[in-house]
Amino acid sequence: MDASEIRTAVAHLDAQRDVEPFVNLRDPARRLGPDGRLAVSRRAPIWADVPDEKWNDWRWQLSNRVNSLEELERVLNLTDDEREGLSAPDKFRVDVTPYFASLIDPDDPDDPIRLQVIPKGEELRAFTGMMEDSLAEDRHSPVPGLVHRYPDRVLMLVTTQCASYCRYCTRSRIVGDASQNFNRKEHEAQLDYIRRTPQIRDVLISGGDGLTLAPKLLETVMRGLREIPHVEIVRIGSRVPVFMPQRVDDELCEMLQKYHPVWMNLHFNHPNEITPEVARAVDKLTRAGIPVGNQTVLLAGVNDCVHIQRDLVQRLVENRIRPYYIYQCDLVEGAGHFRTPVGKGIEIMEGLRGHTSGYAVPMYIVDAPGGGGKIPVMPNYLISYSDHKVILRNYEGYITTYEEPTTYTPHDSASCRYCRSPRPEAGQEGITALLDGKRMWIEPAGFLETHARGNEEAHRLQDPSKWVPYGVGAIEGKAGEPLRALEAGTPAAEPAREYGPGEEPRPPEGMPTGSSHGELL
Ligand SMILES: *Cc1c(COP(=O)(O)O)cnc(C)c1O
Ligand code: SF4
Repeated sequence: MDASEIRTAVAHLDAQRDVEPFVNLRDPARRLGPDGRLAVSRRAPIWADVPDEKWNDWRWQLSNRVNSLEELERVLNLTDDEREGLSAPDKFRVDVTPYFASLIDPDDPDDPIRLQVIPKGEELRAFTGMMEDSLAEDRHSPVPGLVHRYPDRVLMLVTTQCASYCRYCTRSRIVGDASQNFNRKEHEAQLDYIRRTPQIRDVLISGGDGLTLAPKLLETVMRGLREIPHVEIVRIGSRVPVFMPQRVDDELCEMLQKYHPVWMNLHFNHPNEITPEVARAVDKLTRAGIPVGNQTVLLAGVNDCVHIQRDLVQRLVENRIRPYYIYQCDLVEGAGHFRTPVGKGIEIMEGLRGHTSGYAVPMYIVDAPGGGGKIPVMPNYLISYSDHKVILRNYEGYITTYEEPTTYTPHDSASCRYCRSPRPEAGQEGITALLDGKRMWIEPAGFLETHARGNEEAHRLQDPSKWVPYGVGAIEGKAGEPLRALEAGTPAAEPAREYGPGEEPRPPEGMPTGSSHGELL
């Protein structure tokens, strides 16, 4: 074929193809509203007349935040408990962007977004184990605002300001307080420490929230970090895209991508926070080459439910956000009524692993009270567990205890819409069947008869209904019919037994082993 023949053939194929451009309706960043234009979230009536250019301008969102009882009263039907919280003189700062406040159902006192940002009288109550600086960050600060806890990375607090304030904030001792803010002078001292400390290869910008800084000031910090040769990656931990997705504009993305490799971790706690505006903001970040992760805080009344958490992580992955951590709520002032037992986090992890994509499964972390750093709740870190204390060890061997809450109101499944309509799992009995005692079998039953391959088969055949695709019928035999006997295959010749029952076959005395690691282990 010569070139002209190929062109003719291609033109012929093109003519046969559907000429309509393909529209991906599944992409959350391209989702359309009922009017056929890009979908938008609800706006509370008091902001109905704000022109779109203002509403979509992050500076307008920041300067029109609501914080007083009188203003909030115009947006929500406040409860007595909220009035008490809002009237308390020494409370942690309140501020909510109009965009985020509009996501709240004004008539639902248990709205999961409302609980995160509107104070209640309850938050003033002290509890056992409560600390002001529960992670002992101040003790690990070589210069103001820089926390050097791990060998190769630092936390750099560049501001104490946030776009809105979370009632359970772990850093409420400084966050929101303009008189304790960090600025150019502190940034320079922080950069100087990083310059002089070559083992630092990872810098995590946080606060407060670095994305509330004036764009020029944020860029000065980014450039300062990139001029340090040993800084490999820069990460930004931010809740701005959740409170104010308008901030993620082209200017920000163009600036950030100059300083790659840059990673970003966001902070979503509930599926209601994942709006069309957020989907478009995250789409922009990922197109700028920034891998986006998420950290969630486990909060009573907000997300202490396996079904809510499963929906959350699946919505995140749908938006190309990788769930990174679920944190146990810290022992910090103001957070008492949000605390859950550690068992709740274990139950949630049980309901995720295997039940959904591995990409959607975060790691469950207790940040060590007293400052040992993040500890995964996993067997080799979890030392012991009683009805009021969890004993854990960190990567260095440091041992810490997490005091469990004495008052925890269990999640009310009867009134939870996520529990009432869970996504079905064919042939299975729900996402925590193991914990509910409904599912448990011990393998290898019959292992010796079928040898190694039989074990896999046995798992598949124990419950053929599990593999029946909707409306198709059984793949292997029929549900309810007795299982086909497993074929043993040709059993491998029994090796001469040089080992006792329960022992691994070992090479004869004096012979080398397969690997030196095997020897060690
Ligand atoms: C969370 C945190 C980090 C980062 O920890 P990773 O587990 O690497 O995400 C670093 N320093 C401090 C002080 C932190 O709190
Ligand atoms: S965004 Fe982060 S730092 Fe700011 S109030 Fe919320 S938890 Fe605290």
